[in-house]
Amino acid sequence: MNLLKKTNIIMVTIIIIIIVSLLVAPICSYAAAAKYTQSLKSGISNFPKDYQVALNKIKAEHPNWTFEAYNTGLSWDTVLLNETSTHGRNRVIKSADASWRCSCGNVASGYACASKDIIAYYLDPRNFLNEINIFQFLEISYNENIHNLSGVKAAVKNTFLDNTITYEKDGNQYTKTYSEIILEAAKQSKMSPYSIVTKIIQEVGTKGSSSVSGKYSGYEGYYNFFNLGAYDSGNAIVNGLKYARDKGWDNQYDAIIDGAKEVANGYTNAGQNTAYFYKWDVVGTSILKSGCTQTVSSSNMFWHQYMANVQDPTSQSKSLYNTYAKNGILEKGLNFIIPVYTNMPGTADMPTGFPENIENLYSVNCTDGLRVRSKASTSGSILTTLYKNEKVQVVTKDYATEDNVTWDKIKTASGINGYVAGKYLTAYKNTTQTQTVVATAKTTDALKLRKTASTSGVLVTTIPKNKSVDILQKNAATANGYIWYKVKYESNTGYVASKYLKDISDEKQTSSESNTNTDTGTSTSQNNVAKVATSNTNETAKTTSSVKLRKTAKTSGKVLTTIPKGKKVTIVKKNAAKSNGYTWHKVTYSGNTGYVVSKYISTNSGNSSSSKTLKTKSSVKLRKTAKTSGKVLITITKGKKVTIIKKNAAKKNGYTWHKVTYKNKIGYVASKYLK
Ligand SMILES: [Zn+2]
Repeated sequence: MNLLKKTNIIMVTIIIIIIVSLLVAPICSYAAAAKYTQSLKSGISNFPKDYQVALNKIKAEHPNWTFEAYNTGLSWDTVLLNETSTHGRNRVIKSADASWRCSCGNVASGYACASKDIIAYYLDPRNFLNEINIFQFLEISYNENIHNLSGVKAAVKNTFLDNTITYEKDGNQYTKTYSEIILEAAKQSKMSPYSIVTKIIQEVGTKGSSSVSGKYSGYEGYYNFFNLGAYDSGNAIVNGLKYARDKGWDNQYDAIIDGAKEVANGYTNAGQNTAYFYKWDVVGTSILKSGCTQTVSSSNMFWHQYMANVQDPTSQSKSLYNTYAKNGILEKGLNFIIPVYTNMPGTADMPTGFPENIENLYSVNCTDGLRVRSKASTSGSILTTLYKNEKVQVVTKDYATEDNVTWDKIKTASGINGYVAGKYLTAYKNTTQTQTVVATAKTTDALKLRKTASTSGVLVTTIPKNKSVDILQKNAATANGYIWYKVKYESNTGYVASKYLKDISDEKQTSSESNTNTDTGTSTSQNNVAKVATSNTNETAKTTSSVKLRKTAKTSGKVLTTIPKGKKVTIVKKNAAKSNGYTWHKVTYSGNTGYVVSKYISTNSGNSSSSKTLKTKSSVKLRKTAKTSGKVLITITKGKKVTIIKKNAAKKNGYTWHKVTYKNKIGYVASKYLK
């Protein structure tokens, strides 16, 4: 009885404790750590499909390179949430475009808090899977499978490290090559021997400075290969050699081995063994080996970063690539460790101040880094450096010739205005502009349009049954048991499972060949005015000026012939393609079939004509996409002329939308405001 009572009291106490802890729990567990299981697997096949495509391309160029998938166990949303929840953890230069800056307005030391979009862009490894930028994933820790003496020998070639030295240590004399010592240092410090070589060369140069000669007056016999403690106040060399004397580095072996260990302690030994992981701390505190698994607490992630600047890993990848190329170790066995997150979005695009279809977009064509200067001269200060394939808008082509350089005035994606040498820019072919319609088709069922060719791809929109779509690429991919086509529907581009499409472009061709009229108001053509506009016709038209007939629908297409002004051409396909800012008709002229820019052709069709202009009935917004929530590109005031690209291009939000151009901007306006 007594015992039972005691048990009851204990039970009640336990229950009270449970209730109290439940009440307190929300506060206590607020910062409770989550656990994530991480694994590392070697080989391209261990990556998601979209990584594989890019990696296979790189592998084809560099067969000795290997790739490891670092499965972080983190979902994309989790990483993004952690990287954005602390304002100021991620930064961009304060002069960056508004789309790069966080709305919190936090600025410190010239750097502004970064926007979620730009964080997502730099966080997404898929944006950097090219020959150069992949170096942010380069393994900078020691890997016994790929690091060997012959590799180190190649790395030190043509430098002072390509030598055999004799040194005394603990009363004994040794003769070794620097390469042997460096490989030993790699094993002991767990740092890649290539990182050790490049770090030494970076510090003391290819010929070696006084820090490593052992002959500096007052510090004879002391060595410091990594310039540790060589602070700039006073004499940096003396500071470094004092440091070496304090450490007892009185021979080259100790100076390299101990120095490498010190460098490694400050860097890679925190488990962060790539430039990417230095910035994005999505890994545990120990280095994960291939084939292994580890469990990591969220409390050990996200905060341990070596820099706040989101662009830093990408900038570093460029200098790492250069160093490897220069030291002749580019084609050695290099290993790249690339993080993978779960539930990744279709893409994380770079936010830019550039609207889609912007004119005068160029891409950087030099690999060494293109300097953007404050004025059109080599004496202008460097505002930023652009890397290969980065996009810029040319404000004024051939702005000035100065210092034997022809300068273009440009604006960068991050909003910086400046000047660059024009020869390093190539006219950019926007994929949305060069997309050629290869066929048209009708949906046989309601069909999901996805951002990527996969049933798990982000849903762009659902296309209703019986709608027509423009096919941009047939058999773009095979995934999840479907063959995917790249298509355009209204203003959206994406991928659909091809089995739900019925190709109607062939039908059209057949019917026009047999002279049956396809424009008789059938349900198909009523549903799809735009469709009719791109269909095959045998309409004739006249050139409004002398115009080049090109083999392909682009300004760089081979010229078949030049058609003089006022000549009749037969239109094979109206609005067959859009590229280089033009709409192209496929036409036949005196036996040649090719493409001409539509604006130089006058047609009589009321449905669609690129040369047709309309006037605004009132002030009206030009939107990037054909919907009332579409981004406003510009507000066109009343009575202005706009050029119609595609009449009735879309129906949305109760409006019919025309695709038009106005002041070099291409977008959509609600048709009711035009006359
Ligand atoms: Zn912020």
